[in-house]
Parts: sequence; C-alpha cells; structure tokens
Amino acid sequence: MTSTSTQPSSAARRDARSVPTSQILKSVERVWGYRELRPLQEQAIRAGLEQRDSLLVMPTGGGKSLCYQVPPLIDRRTDVVVSPLISLMKDQVDALKANGYPAAALNSTMSTEERKAVGRSIKRGELRLLFVAPERLMNDGFLKFLQDVGVGGFAIDEAHCISQWGHDFRPEYRRLAELRSKFPEASFHACTATATQRVRADIIEQLRLREPNVLVGNFDRPNLIYRIVPRVDANAQSLEVIRRHQNEAVIIYCISRKDTENLAGYLKAMKIDAAAYHAGMSGDDRRKVQEAFAQDRLQVVVATVAFGMGIDRSNVRCVIHTAMPKSIEHYQQETGRAGRDGLEAECVMFYSLADVMRWERLIAQSAEQAQKPGPVIEAATELLGEIQRFAAGSTCRHRALVEYFGQAYESGDCGACDVCLNELDTLPDATVVAQKIISCVARVGERFGVGHVVDVLLGSKSDLIKRCKHDELSVHGLLKGGDKKQLVSLTHQLIDQGLLSRTTGQRPVVTLSEKSKPVLRGEVPVVLVKPAAKANAAHGGKFDSESWEGVDRDLFEALRQLRAEIAAEREVPAYVIFGDGTLRDLARKRPGSVETMRGVWGVGELKCKDLGPRFVEAIKAHCRANRLDTDAGDTAATGGGAPSSGGGKGLTAGALASFDHFRQGKSIERVMQAMSRARSTVTGYLAQFIEVEEPDSIDAWVQPEVQREIAEAMKRAGADYLRPIFDELQGKYEYDTIKLVRAFAKAKV
Ligand code: ADP
Ligand code: ZN
Repeated sequence: MTSTSTQPSSAARRDARSVPTSQILKSVERVWGYRELRPLQEQAIRAGLEQRDSLLVMPTGGGKSLCYQVPPLIDRRTDVVVSPLISLMKDQVDALKANGYPAAALNSTMSTEERKAVGRSIKRGELRLLFVAPERLMNDGFLKFLQDVGVGGFAIDEAHCISQWGHDFRPEYRRLAELRSKFPEASFHACTATATQRVRADIIEQLRLREPNVLVGNFDRPNLIYRIVPRVDANAQSLEVIRRHQNEAVIIYCISRKDTENLAGYLKAMKIDAAAYHAGMSGDDRRKVQEAFAQDRLQVVVATVAFGMGIDRSNVRCVIHTAMPKSIEHYQQETGRAGRDGLEAECVMFYSLADVMRWERLIAQSAEQAQKPGPVIEAATELLGEIQRFAAGSTCRHRALVEYFGQAYESGDCGACDVCLNELDTLPDATVVAQKIISCVARVGERFGVGHVVDVLLGSKSDLIKRCKHDELSVHGLLKGGDKKQLVSLTHQLIDQGLLSRTTGQRPVVTLSEKSKPVLRGEVPVVLVKPAAKANAAHGGKFDSESWEGVDRDLFEALRQLRAEIAAEREVPAYVIFGDGTLRDLARKRPGSVETMRGVWGVGELKCKDLGPRFVEAIKAHCRANRLDTDAGDTAATGGGAPSSGGGKGLTAGALASFDHFRQGKSIERVMQAMSRARSTVTGYLAQFIEVEEPDSIDAWVQPEVQREIAEAMKRAGADYLRPIFDELQGKYEYDTIKLVRAFAKAKV
C-alpha cells in the first residue's frame, strides 16, 4: 500500500483533521451498518473532506464508492459522480436510497418531468450525490446550471477510461479535462480499479489534478481462487465447474457473441438455467437478463465483455473465462466481479494458445480498418503479450497479478491458486512427449501448423498427409491412439514455454527455437500440464471454511429465498436488500429481535427498521421448526462465531456420510478419494465429526507433537479465531490442521 503525499498548497482548503475519525465511523455505521473502514478508505474520505484532489486505485470490490459517498454526506454538500454507464448509476442510486442516502442520477432514459424534479432537489441542496454520464455533464447548459448551484467535488469513476494506454479508452472522457477551469473551487477525485503506472500518470495529467493524494490499494484479492487450465473442451469444462456451484451466481465470459449463444444453448440442454448476454441482443432482452441475474432469479450468465460494468451483484461465486481475455486489466476487472462481498469465490480460465492467435487476428483487423491510431494498436499488442505470459506461466497467480500492477507480494504461497494449491496435474512422461512433438516439427520441415504436426503424430492418412508423403516419415503415428485436442494443447504449451516457436500472420507455422535442440538431446527436462485433467473437486482454499464457520446453511437458504422475494417485490437487485455476508452473519447469529439484528454485520439503522421485522420473523420460524434458540452464542464479533452444530443440527448430507469413514479411522486422503471431495471440504467434515462425536483421540489425523504445538499456540492466541493461531505459529501449519486441533480442544471441555 502506498500513499504519496505532498502538502496541499492552498490555505483555503479545509483542515479535515477537525472531523474526528469517530464521526466518520458513526456516519458509516448509521447509514451502511459497517463497523470499520477498509484500508485506504479513511485517507480517501479525508481527501474528499479536505477537498484535496486524489487518485484512488483500488481493485474492484475494494470499496471505492464509499470514499466519494461519505464526504458530501458529512459536509452537507452536493458532489457529482461521473460514471460511464447508465445501468451502473441506477443500481448505485437504488442501493443508496435503500440506505436513506439522498442521491439521484440524471440520464437520457428519464422523462423531462423526472429530470426537472432532480434539478429542483439540486437547487434546494437536498442531494448529496448526483450521478451523470460524461456526455451529459459536458453539455454547456448543464455545466452552467452546475456552476450556478455550486459543486463541492467531482468523483470520476472508471477514470482509466481517459487513457489510451488503458484497456477501455473512451474518447468522451477526454473532455472532462475542461472541468478544472470551469470549477476552480471544486476538488477532483479520480477512482479506478485498474491502472498501471503509465495509466495513473495519464489520468493525473488529463484531469489536471493538483498535487493529488495518490492512494493505491492492495491489489490482491485473497478471497478469490484463481485457476488457469489448458482448454480442451470449453463446454464440458465449463459444465464441470458450474456443477460445483449449484444455486450460486456464475458469470461465464466468451470472446464472441456466437460463443456465448452456443455455450448457453449447451448448458440449457444440460438442464442448467443459463442465459446469453451480448451487445447484439435488443436492449429489452439484455435488461431482462440483467434484472433476473441481479434479483437472484437467474444464476448463470454466458456473456461477452459487454456484461459487467452494470452488474453489481456482490455474491458472484464463480467467474469462468472460456478463453483468455485480451489483457490482464480485463482479466482483473472481470474476475473482480466475483466475491465482491469478500467471501470466497472461484475464477477459472480455460487457456489455449489459439486465443492469442485469435486476438492477434482481431488486432490486425482493427488496424487494417485503420479506425484506430497506431499507438492504440501498439498498446493492444503489448497488453496481449503480458496476459499470454501470465496465463501460460506457472508463477503464483496472486503474485503475478499483484506484481503486474506494480506492487510487491509479501506472502509466500497464496493458498488460493492452482499453482500454490499444487493442482497442476503434470504429464508423467512430458520430456519424451515433447521430444516426439519437436522431432515431428523438424521432420515436416518447419512449414506446417499445429494441426498438421499433430495429425502426423497421430498417424492420420489424410490426402494432405499423403500428398506431402508425411505418412512415410519415421514420426508418422508415433503417438497413435492419442487424443487430438490434448496433443494440440501440449504443443501449444511447448510454444508458450519457448521450446518451439511459431510464426504469426494468416497461416501460422510451428518452427524450432534455440531451446528445441537441448530438449531433443535430453539436456532439459520438460514439464507439461496434463490437459483435461479434471479441475479440482471443490472450491477449496483456506477462505471457504472460515467464512462459513458457524453458519446454519439451511437458514441461509431460507433467508436467501426471502431476500429474492423482497427484491422482486421492490424490483431492485437482491444485493440492495442485503449482501451474502450479511445473510451468513444472520444465519450465524440468528437474531430473534430487531434490536439484536442491529448487531449483525451490514445492517444499518434504516435497513434494520425497514427489513428487520420480516427477517426476524423468518429466523424465528426456522428456529421453531428446528428447535434452535435464537440469538446464538456471543454475538459481539463479526465472522467465525462458535459453530452451531449442536446435536447434529446444521450438518449436511455430505458431512454425515463422511462420519462413517472417520469412525473407521480412515485418513483424510482416503476419504477424499472415497467421496471425491477436495481436501478442504473433507477436513471441514472431519472438524465437524470431532466436535459432534467427540472421539478420544485425533492421532489418526494429526501427529501428537503437532497437536501439542498448536495447543500451545492456542493458549497464547486464544481459540476464538483461526487467524491469530495461524499467525502465532507463523504459518507453520495449515488452517485445516489448526481447525482440527481446535475442534478437539472444544470437544474435550
Ligand atoms: P468498488 O467500487 O471498489 O468495486 P464497492 O464500493 O462497490 O467497490 O464496494 C464493494 C462492496 O464492499 C460493497 O458491496 C460494500 O458492501 C462493501 N464495503 C465497502 N466498504 C465497506 C466497509 N468499510 N465495511 C464493510 N463492507 C464494505
Ligand atoms: Zn498462489
């Protein structure tokens, strides 16, 4: 986290120190129900209060909106938010209004009457935030109006759109440069989720920011689990991933409109309720999909990049890329739509070198159409190279992403990516297979594409092969019986690793590289990922179990239903009612009255009054039916209360099935195999088993000296939360192991 500060020069700027932190917190607590600020939020809010220019770079989900929402509220002034998408504005305004925050948007879809009404409330000084699109804002008459009424600050959302070095250049953003001279008294606050150094500099220059406070948040999203697997069959692979997320929100990104329709059709045929979304659909159709998704009535959307900016659903549990996107910025942005509620989510990319070639063609085409100037093409090619290195590489994904955005990654293993979770299933005889492929490339004279090379190895007798007499080569049929798609993927991997080369252009040809010969001579061992290796069984990672801790899953489902009902009644997205984090906390604490409900994470004053009675009603009904007490345990802390698995209640069928295995003392590995579940899932079951069945010893699963060490650490750090114990042991033992020992300690008392 960095913050470059220089003192503001103008004495006219307010001394924001006069607003105590407690006052900021109080407003945030009252309106939004959050008990603390996230990293950088306080600094950013202070910049707003001080009316000092700022540039806030924070990943999606980091909480940028709060930073421009709070200052005008405390200062009782009107600020303007510039945002590129109308649909995004509407959602934001709805969410704010639901919290009792005076905000409005102005856009072309509104009637003259509605617009006039907004104009009147601005004049009366009732509004704290006004959202507008840049085109509307830069209209001369409107600017004059704003100059007359006075604007405290401008928040420029998605500020990277102003830079051609960004991934989403929008020429209409350039005109925002004129604002500075028109509103010399106002402060400017640029926000973006993705900006490399170059783009940041560009934003500051273009918006003429004055000695801005540059606040760069942590780019890591520890709750996201990244997986990049070789693509063999996007349909089948997507289906497999979706099946891990039943009843959960999933967004699948494809490159083309046609791809989205094909995949959506396939999924429907497989009885998955999915819808396509792309810019070629009518506005009406798109709105329907978007609304159904936002209101929790539709779980799976198969989309092009057109889907997203307007989607604010915070409980997206999985984002799939069926192909590599065209830049790391896009990848970060799109995967960033997963897990915005801070709870675990999975991001899977199916990668193939073919994607790189496809993008190269698309970039070349747009160059030919000559609509875009040279530098934009140059930038596009550079960005493509970066993401190819990322996708084909085998560095920790969290590390690679964070470093790309110019930050240091301090932790070791992230515990939440395919590389660190050790999931990359490697091909046992990779070196031999690589030698065969490379020999074949040499034998066909380095004049053919990947498909042909693979056909020769498979022993195809096609006309082309006969005509070239390639059926007479010694390499012909060398990998007979193999799978064509898998072999193509392996060849692509060799190219990605530089062990083979390829030409670009219309008909790319595979050639040898300087690294090919050493492989043939057996001097360099080769590592290849087994294509189509089943992606890991569950969305494990250390986050999963922590945030579900103590949550009554049945109650959670019931509350979700209620949320969907209310959302449909009010025609707002479900997250406007409550986020998943709040539902989990409700299902953990089971408040039996509106008063105790106020102690739940994410429940502000207004929402508690408004929604409290219905939620409390549902909780009480659930508790009666299941003979549970309301107001479970100690409700003081957020997250990770005591598991409420009393008497087998709240145990899933999976957990119960696992108990038989554990009674027989089977190892975690054997239960993983027997039940085809991921390690984290099985250890979760085991922890429940220990608590519920209270075995005499857990030596079968954790070595006695490890148990002693963890027990010691637990004495020092307390047993309420896993994190302090983990830290106390300086990461020596996995969360899973600690959890088992803790469960045992609890069972013993
Ligand atoms: P961004 O605009 O940076 O993508 P948002 O402003 O939409 O992110 O915030 C993402 C989510 O984080 C929101 O759903 C909001 O509920 C939550 N959030 C923001 N600030 C806080 C906070 N201080 N405490 C808890 N949750 C927060
Ligand atoms: Zn990692």
